[in-house]
Amino acid sequence: MNKRAFLEGFFTASAVAFGGQFMWQRINQQTPLLKTASIVTDASILAENPTPSLESFRFTAIEIDSIQPAKGIPTPAPSLDSPSNFVTAQLDDVAVEKYLRKIRNFDAIFANDIYLDPRYEALLLKTTQRLTRVENYIGHGNFNLLSFDDMLKHGRNFSKIGAFTADELNFIEEVFFANPNRYGFFGKKISQEITDFIPKNDVAKISNTGHYLLRGESLNLYQHIKNDVGEEVILTSGVRSIVKQIHLFLAKAIEANGNLSRASRSLAPPGHSYHGVGDFDIGKVGFGARNFTADFSTTDEYAKLSRLAYVDIRYPTDNLFGVRFEPWHIKLS
Ligand SMILES: [Zn+2]
Repeated sequence: MNKRAFLEGFFTASAVAFGGQFMWQRINQQTPLLKTASIVTDASILAENPTPSLESFRFTAIEIDSIQPAKGIPTPAPSLDSPSNFVTAQLDDVAVEKYLRKIRNFDAIFANDIYLDPRYEALLLKTTQRLTRVENYIGHGNFNLLSFDDMLKHGRNFSKIGAFTADELNFIEEVFFANPNRYGFFGKKISQEITDFIPKNDVAKISNTGHYLLRGESLNLYQHIKNDVGEEVILTSGVRSIVKQIHLFLAKAIEANGNLSRASRSLAPPGHSYHGVGDFDIGKVGFGARNFTADFSTTDEYAKLSRLAYVDIRYPTDNLFGVRFEPWHIKLS
């Protein structure tokens, strides 16, 4: 595929229709989806149709609700960091207000959100499904550490997965190398190469979690936290390979119906996650999915955590990364 055409066609700066039905619904109807979806295999398709079609976007009732953060900007949840974290000097009030509305209402849809060009929708679904098959085949624990090269190998070797096609690999690369500032993510690039991997000897498996931590600073920090906060604290996500982050991000993009801005407000794009270099997520035993919501900041465990001078979180309220408040995400200093 022509790389330049791919690059130029990757983003759509507007709300667009994805065939009139939400992607996450269609990913669950695998067979009809793959049969009917048109797959971009040739740059000529892009050349013939250089302007993505901007059809009207159909919102669900939930989304119509979420698009109106009408109750005004919610009060920020308590932050471990000082308010000086947010530097507003170069931004006017309107720009600051717009930015804050977005990250405080991270799951809402905003008019200037950036979408994946709908012509890549089929590739997004196909690629994500293949990655899901890899994860199911090798297990969730192993998938946390899977390198790009091993991902390719598994695809080739196991017919249940199937080899990654050239288009899927181009797509993965494009997601990895695209500048996420385009869609509103401002965190720094952590891994430059898609083939960067986590050596098995560098990690320790954390029992009863299915997750791993980098030995040394990261593992020590987790053990300190457990000692000081108590056994109710548990690792909910540890070190993640680039492949793992790619899969999470693509799945999030599907959930967000192709809205890359909305996806990246809740999850760092691949190559930009500090989970690759030692950050980790913690939660409260039995708190379930609420461990990944602002509700975690209302737990006793979080209260104890916030009193520990050596603990810091990566994404406090109103951070400059373009990411929602994540009280569960522990920053490795
Ligand atoms: Zn995290």
